[in-house]
Amino acid sequence: MEVRIETIEAILVDLPTIRAHQLAMAVMQRQTLVIVRLRCSDGIEGLGEATTIGGLAYGEESPEGIKLAIDTYLAPALAGQDATNVRAALARLDQVARGNRFAKSALETALLDAQGKRLGVPVATLVGGAVRTRLPVLWTLASGDTARDIDEAEALLQARRHNTFKLKIGRREIAADVAHVARIKQALGERARVTVDVNQAWNEADAAGAIARLEAAGVDLIEQPIPRANLAGMARLAARFVVPIMADEAVCTPEDALDIARLGAADVLALKIAKSGGILEMTRTAAVGDAAGMALYGGTMLEGSIGSIASAHGFAALPRLGWGTELFGPLLLKDDIVANPPRYDDFALQLPAGPGLGLTLDEDKLEFYRRDGAPGPR
Ligand SMILES: [Mg+2]
Repeated sequence: MEVRIETIEAILVDLPTIRAHQLAMAVMQRQTLVIVRLRCSDGIEGLGEATTIGGLAYGEESPEGIKLAIDTYLAPALAGQDATNVRAALARLDQVARGNRFAKSALETALLDAQGKRLGVPVATLVGGAVRTRLPVLWTLASGDTARDIDEAEALLQARRHNTFKLKIGRREIAADVAHVARIKQALGERARVTVDVNQAWNEADAAGAIARLEAAGVDLIEQPIPRANLAGMARLAARFVVPIMADEAVCTPEDALDIARLGAADVLALKIAKSGGILEMTRTAAVGDAAGMALYGGTMLEGSIGSIASAHGFAALPRLGWGTELFGPLLLKDDIVANPPRYDDFALQLPAGPGLGLTLDEDKLEFYRRDGAPGPR
């Protein structure tokens, strides 16, 4: 029996965050998710998510633009296609739309979720099988206040939820940022790893001075210190310092990974399914980095549960994942639109075992938080 894709719905969902989340380019008070519901002729529904950081402040795609691309171009192209052939459906999307990787990622997730439910297997099994069912997850300290960040880290260490902490810097003067990071690392000592993410905020000369001081303070990793276009500068920094340099904004595609590998522009690659255009493309990028001897890290676009668990299925299937993940998005949100939120314990995220993503929508919550829903408290 042929199974066809019937309808695709893209829904904007606004969820409040547990606290203000300060990044080099934006301060987030809420997160907007684009949730995809893909319905098939056999009655099976697949879920997907595309989420950006800070609207258009971080990347080149916005939630509203992603919804428009799906509604206007991508959903019509998929209607009537074979729901069981994910690669063929994705090839069709590439025919009608260049780029738009976030939207394509959400649609791929929905197709894989539906196919997993159809076959009774997890998404990780569809992409080769999980080599790990527990994924280490770090936490981002981004309140902007040093003492508050230390208290937050101590509480999370005590609760055995996280033992690696990432600090978002680059908003303030370098001296202030370095002092903030050094105080936190000093307070936590050997009990926790501390990494920093500069989100491209520095120039190369400033980065060289700052990284020297951060390295001396015992920081474990420096993420995207300078603009993504300056791969030669990243290569000079990676050669100059012992502390590993991670590429995030600089790596989306396998071709980006190849350029970074050729130049030696990073020691670690941050992978994200959204920026890659889905799990399958993410694994291609990962393979290039892996072959070049770079360590891999499972990154987040601060997705909610659907996007984070989709990422987890993909990262679980990577042969090597040396730097763990940052799939803490659901923990940053005050509420959830799935009935069975992800489980975090003992410093890790547990991969759900059920078919597809292993998640069930909470229809009432979705109704409450969807932007086009009935007016109510937000
Ligand atoms: Mg980053």
